[in-house]
Parts: sequence; structure tokens; C-alpha cells
Amino acid sequence: MSVETSTRDVELPSDLVSRIEKLMRAKYEKRPSKVSTGAFIAELIRSSLEKEQAKEMYPQALEEYSVDSQRVYIKDSQRDVVAELYFKDGSDLYCNYDSSKNCVHVGFAMSIPAVQQLQYERKKGN
Ligand SMILES: [Zn+2]
Repeated sequence: MSVETSTRDVELPSDLVSRIEKLMRAKYEKRPSKVSTGAFIAELIRSSLEKEQAKEMYPQALEEYSVDSQRVYIKDSQRDVVAELYFKDGSDLYCNYDSSKNCVHVGFAMSIPAVQQLQYERKKGN
């Protein structure tokens, strides 16, 4: 992590700070080094800021359209379609558009945290 040269105070909702502290405990439980909450939050924000800036600057071919417990919809600007994916054989995602479990839409969907959570829950439920 980089050393901050100067800082500014910002207010965050306390429930959000609690969630962040919980994540920090899970992540650094087995490590001796101490990371300050501020430095940890700065790193989280930096990484999501980079993603948001990239979205603004470069046209994104694939976007999350909607996610529910049964289906995931991925907007594909290159092909001008919204691909419909659903869970098949437990936790595998199947793309109706490509008739495949291995297309770009499935790969992209698996990077979405809400989809990762659904897959995890489905694997546990087996
Ligand atoms: Zn597909």
C-alpha cells in the first residue's frame, strides 16, 4: 500500500465502517502486520475508483443488467443483445444466447459478487 502524503476527513455511515472492519478482521486474521482502517478503506476506494474511471473512459462490451436468484442478464453491446443466463446442474451457469457454459457472458457473470454469492449458496445447498 502506498503512503498517503496528505489526508482529508470524510464521514462514512457507521454500518459501512462495521462491515469494512469485519472484512479486515477476516482478511488479516492470520497476519502479524497492522493495517489502519483508513489505509484499508483508501485501497478499497482506489480500486473501485479505477474500475469506475475505466467504465467512463473505455466503452464496455459487457455490463451487468440484472441478477436474481434464478437468472443473470448480461448486456452485450458488441452483439447488441442481453444474454440470459441461468443456473443449470447445481451451481453452473448456462448461457441461452450461446447455448454454452463457457462463453464470455458466463465468464463475465462469474466476476459479479452477487453471482459469486449465489453460486456459493447453491454449492452449499448440494
Ligand atoms: Zn453467452
